[in-house]
Amino acid sequence: MSGVGKGVATASIGKILQSYGFSTTAVKIDPYINCDAGTLRPTEHGEVWVTLDGGEIDQDLGNYERFLGFPISKRNNITTGQVFRTLIEKERRGDFLGQTVQLIPHLTDEIKLRIKEVSDGFDFVLVEIGGTVGDYENVPFMFAIKSLEREVGRENIVYVLITYLPIPDNVGEMKTKPTQTAIRLMVEQGLVPDFILCRAKVSLDDVRKKKIETYANISSDNIISAPDVSSIYEVPLNFEKQELGLKLLKRFGIKQKKKPNWDVWADSVSKILHPSKIVSVALVGKYVTVGDFTLKDSYISIHESLVHAGAANDCAISVAFIDASEGVDLSGFDGIIVPGGFGSSGVDGKISAIKFARENKVPYLGLCYGMQLAVVEYSRNVCGLSAHTTEVEPSVKDKVIDILPEQGVVKEKGASMRLGAYAANILQNSLAHSLYARRLKEDSELITKLPIERTGIISKNVVVEVHRHRYELNPAYLSLLEERGLVISGWHERTDGTKLAEFVEIPSHPFFIATQAHPEFRSSLLHPAPLFSGFIKACLLKKQLVVPAEPVK
Ligand code: GLN
Repeated sequence: MSGVGKGVATASIGKILQSYGFSTTAVKIDPYINCDAGTLRPTEHGEVWVTLDGGEIDQDLGNYERFLGFPISKRNNITTGQVFRTLIEKERRGDFLGQTVQLIPHLTDEIKLRIKEVSDGFDFVLVEIGGTVGDYENVPFMFAIKSLEREVGRENIVYVLITYLPIPDNVGEMKTKPTQTAIRLMVEQGLVPDFILCRAKVSLDDVRKKKIETYANISSDNIISAPDVSSIYEVPLNFEKQELGLKLLKRFGIKQKKKPNWDVWADSVSKILHPSKIVSVALVGKYVTVGDFTLKDSYISIHESLVHAGAANDCAISVAFIDASEGVDLSGFDGIIVPGGFGSSGVDGKISAIKFARENKVPYLGLCYGMQLAVVEYSRNVCGLSAHTTEVEPSVKDKVIDILPEQGVVKEKGASMRLGAYAANILQNSLAHSLYARRLKEDSELITKLPIERTGIISKNVVVEVHRHRYELNPAYLSLLEERGLVISGWHERTDGTKLAEFVEIPSHPFFIATQAHPEFRSSLLHPAPLFSGFIKACLLKKQLVVPAEPVK
């Protein structure tokens, strides 16, 4: 079922294969008709993950990147909508003249083609089929995989079924029946699982392993226990305790290329599990509650970036997901984040939160909308303007955040924002410059792989971050804002000379920085995003300043 942890399991298997020296990539199949996740509601589907090449994708791709540690293309996401669209385009073009275009083989061929394309050059490709076995919408994908099996050979394909074993309160016993049913449904589609990953609240005992072994006819050695853990980064370590990596390689008949070394990873995990310090951060957002439940998945990448930054600083982060529409007292927090967002709901609350952070010298990190609203707040309360973003108030007097004239009218909502990686030239000696110091080299290599529309005109200190927005800081207000102390510390300079503000900061504040980008899309456990690390350091510093020193006796 969705949310059971298929994404984390896939990412963990990928990480394990990498640890044995194999290059590994992953593909996420989403059997919905949307062409991408850009038009989905985050409260229903969790966050939209944005790739460097501008794809708006299911959040699982984020887990792949966070674990595998390299950028994954939007081509690694396949939706039913995409395959149908391509197929219909091909049919209209006349590629199939004379033929009846059908689910089988045309649709399934298209699916296979896409998997093969992105696997090119890798030792392994992991293909995660979203949804639930037995879903109608999964059928073409299952069929495509079966047909791939025939092409590559049964020995070169391994099936891993991820199931959930509930422990109903009234029974108090772990039930294997849903797993048995899932196995049956999978086998009915011609796919016989080689491994079963058993997600559950607790570890699987031998009695239940035996039950599944008998039912599925697979050795209990290949039935892997995947109990709930406090941190997702424990999962590969847990799998390795059960020697999943070696078992997979044995099944493939392949020898390991190198001996795994998990020291650095395990050390970071141990910092997450046993931190020596703690800071509390308010995440003032919008998509927070659905019915009776709080959904942190809509900000998953921010949450994970905080975890990464926390591990790097040996510090736990208690994140309070605060609904911006409900005026909350922010005085107890060590830092405040206003994340990305759209539309007018909660905007006033976000602006008040930013004002609070600015005036009370609380560390502030603004992400995308969090930068735009920081500019609105500064324009109003420091520059005395009657300012807003035209996204919320189209006829406001001072349109400090606006659609730039050259952007024209938005005709379609799907994939029409400024999406993906863009380079920014960083101002020497700014806060942004000091935070990014260690990533400048990596990013200067990365820009050599990006097309000119994404790099623009670059100067000496260049950083690359992922974007997903439509509105921009209006250049007409730049000089006034700068005169009043807001520093624009990063620019994207287009080849036509247009300059887009990418970072703003307030030098007189201990830590106030906001970016038009989403640095949370480039953070991984072993390489935390610089803005997040800096933010956590600032929170720690603030906490030390606020906590009174022990009175000397
Ligand atoms: N709504 C704003 C825009 O479209 C910000 C988007 C975001 O925060 N991702 O520009």
